Amino acid sequence: MSQSFPKGMDLDFDRHHLWHPYTSMLEPLPVYPVVGARGVTIELEDGRRLIDGMSSWWSAIHGYNHPVLNRAVSDQLGRMSHVMFGGLVHEPAIELGRRLVALLPDPLDRVFLCDSGSVSVEVAVKMALQYWHARGRPEKQRLLTVRSGYHGDTFMAMSVCDPVTGMHSLFSGVLPEQLFVEAPSCRFDEPWNEEAIHDMRLQLEAHAGRIAAVIVEPVVQGAGGMRFYSPRYLQRLRELCAEHDVLLVFDEIATGFGRTGRMFAMEHAAVVPDIVCVGKALTGGYMSLAATVASGHVADTISGGEPGLFMHGPTFMANPLACAVAVASLGLLDAFDWQSAVSRIEGKLRKGLAPCAAMPGVVDVRVLGAIGVVELERPVEMASIQKRLVDKGVWVRPFGRLVYLMPPYVIMDDELDILTLAVCETVREEVTGTR
Ligand SMILES: *Cc1c(COP(=O)(O)O)cnc(C)c1O
Repeated sequence: MSQSFPKGMDLDFDRHHLWHPYTSMLEPLPVYPVVGARGVTIELEDGRRLIDGMSSWWSAIHGYNHPVLNRAVSDQLGRMSHVMFGGLVHEPAIELGRRLVALLPDPLDRVFLCDSGSVSVEVAVKMALQYWHARGRPEKQRLLTVRSGYHGDTFMAMSVCDPVTGMHSLFSGVLPEQLFVEAPSCRFDEPWNEEAIHDMRLQLEAHAGRIAAVIVEPVVQGAGGMRFYSPRYLQRLRELCAEHDVLLVFDEIATGFGRTGRMFAMEHAAVVPDIVCVGKALTGGYMSLAATVASGHVADTISGGEPGLFMHGPTFMANPLACAVAVASLGLLDAFDWQSAVSRIEGKLRKGLAPCAAMPGVVDVRVLGAIGVVELERPVEMASIQKRLVDKGVWVRPFGRLVYLMPPYVIMDDELDILTLAVCETVREEVTGTR
């Protein structure tokens, strides 16, 4: 028997009682009631079907309501939905660990499963601090990062988000103060310019004695500005971190699992960090699950220091339902020519979004893998642009000056045409004021 909900969603209740991400309870933006999602379409309560351009924030790479992923959850549900991970283990966790270790480059092979992307960043930072503590360098506690980054909403993760968009002044005194350098200025497809890493090099030279780790999103800076930068930056960063005895952490939470055209964005640079965070697409968008994967050296050093263990262990660690669906999602990727799919999407996004580049008020149009970005001069008018996109039959959620697409990999060409056309028309209305 399936659970039945009363007919007609109580949007008034929602408005008065439920927080949505980054919203006001005094003047909440309109929300659209969803009753189902299948493949690349989201079905609204009023019967309208929207083509999904967001993959529910990078995560639903195989589309919604996928029979293989559904079966993985229901099969696991019939065995157990959860048991504690302290002192117990189960097949979904082992199989997921095995797959992650196989996918990630050596020597990243010690897997900590955690609840969400933000938590996986917390875990990475904790690993870095415990690592230096174990090495007898407890003064190495600071993090060094680049501006325009986004690493999550918990406090330590927030401390390495862009200080302006992350509103650091609002939380000053509570937020750990980290070191920031200019965002990588050399674009993805530009010839390398050593100037781009100058600021980073100066900070490492000056402060390495206090720095535990550098943390960056490799190649693609996501929610902090949707910027694509030169993979050469990561190669130089790897050299500098080694030279100055600082750990390197890559946050692949948005970029992991094929989104940029490589399984992990770090593969564009052929560079391996000491610790990597993955999340978002890990479960194909079914559940919250993330992982922090460290090298054997980092894991063993931590374990050999005081207090001889890693100080983290959430209640729902390695939740079997989430692990089972993650295994199934990685299995789907493995059985699917996602490289061709992503490169086909890349071509369609390039072509489909190109008309925006000529519009006044558009600063830049850029595409990498299955990510397409239109950057405007001025911030969009959120409530109105959202409605106009929905009226055109697409689900696209702009933020600030950015209108961007990152569709599920299973999207078809004609659906991509509808998406890019809707974005072009909406951007034209936005910049010409014809809304
Ligand atoms: C989304 C994101 C996070 C935070 O993940 P949550 O699951 O939302 O906590 C961290 N880093 C990057 C790069 C992200 O895109």
